[in-house]
Amino acid sequence: MIELITQAFVALQASLFESVVQPVLFALGLTTYAELGFDAVEFFLYGVIEIALVWLLLRPLESLRPVERWADRRAVRVDVLYTLLNRLGLIPLLVFMLLAVPIGDLDGWLRLHDLIPGNLEDWLPVLRERPWLSFAAYLLIIDLNDYWRHRLQHRFDFWWALHSVHHSQRQMSFWSDSRNHLLDDLIQGVWMAAVSLLIGVPPAQFVLILLVTRAVENLSHANLRLGFGALGERLLVSTRFHRTHHAIGAGLKGRYRGCNFAVLFPLWDLLFGTARFDDAYAATGIGDQLQGADYGEGFWQQQTLGVKRLLAALAPSSSSHRTADDAYAAGCPQTVQAGSLPSWIARQSAASASNSNNRPSSDWPMPATSLSASAACMVPMMPVSGANTPITAQRTSSTSSPSGNRQ
Ligand SMILES: [Zn+2]
Ligand SMILES: [Zn+2]
Repeated sequence: MIELITQAFVALQASLFESVVQPVLFALGLTTYAELGFDAVEFFLYGVIEIALVWLLLRPLESLRPVERWADRRAVRVDVLYTLLNRLGLIPLLVFMLLAVPIGDLDGWLRLHDLIPGNLEDWLPVLRERPWLSFAAYLLIIDLNDYWRHRLQHRFDFWWALHSVHHSQRQMSFWSDSRNHLLDDLIQGVWMAAVSLLIGVPPAQFVLILLVTRAVENLSHANLRLGFGALGERLLVSTRFHRTHHAIGAGLKGRYRGCNFAVLFPLWDLLFGTARFDDAYAATGIGDQLQGADYGEGFWQQQTLGVKRLLAALAPSSSSHRTADDAYAAGCPQTVQAGSLPSWIARQSAASASNSNNRPSSDWPMPATSLSASAACMVPMMPVSGANTPITAQRTSSTSSPSGNRQ
């Protein structure tokens, strides 16, 4: 069965390449890029299949068990555009074209000076006979790398100026994970290339890691009430865990300027003291949007405003542009020491239970009536109330129901 699907996929790839891509490359005098074109068709087909599967699975689930019901879904459309540009290959192709030459030169220079460290299999030969173990090892390393990359996106003002495009969506759905500034995509491309040079991820493993990561990212951004259970939420990033990362009032504050940075495994947040497990589902967005800050509605507006924020962040006189968020910063009072993970998890669960009785009443412009924060980021979080309440009504309401935030 799998062989049949693979054969059909390869036949479709060859047919698309021969009938569409090859004639275009020939007409433009770019036949030297034929191999790249063939790979691009594969990437495109993966994207089509991925979008179809995710849409068929997550869209009905979002309708069935939404965190928020939106009367007007216009704000979601731009995220669909980001997803199509990203998944179908246009943005990755642009990033590749900009980076291929400098990375190739760097790779050549490193090899010339015998500075290529090799790959994981060179260091751990046992992985050569165990492809699944090898895949798991690469997956863990790439995910750890993604955790730190994401933390730095919040840590540096210039990077946050770009990453805030991702956070400015107040109608977060499974389409939102590709919503990034183009310069952010470029920086992430450089970051990923550096890691690939360092640990030599095999291409086949890389594609699989990319597909797994994207699938989980689609799920974690979904407008979906889906509990993984106390243990499950600590094993894999859930919709609620990532929603807390996007929360107005919690996602961008505290000592670490946010919490729940993990892409696949909350393990990294638990290890580095940035995990926050909430019973509540938070309203998403950036604090200063409530004070009227504009992050743009359309694609180009978001991109242009992102560049303006970047220039402002890089200007010598700039202290910080995120005053509205920092105004509520309360720090992350607890951090976990390496090696104390099991006892810390227990403490965190206890803290989570007690914090629900210890809510701040006046920190937030609207009462944070359902705050039940865990240890990492003790800052007020703006909850969504009932699943049936339009989001605009929720965000102008002065009261909300704690019961509506429970699963
Ligand atoms: Zn983020
Ligand atoms: Zn996100």
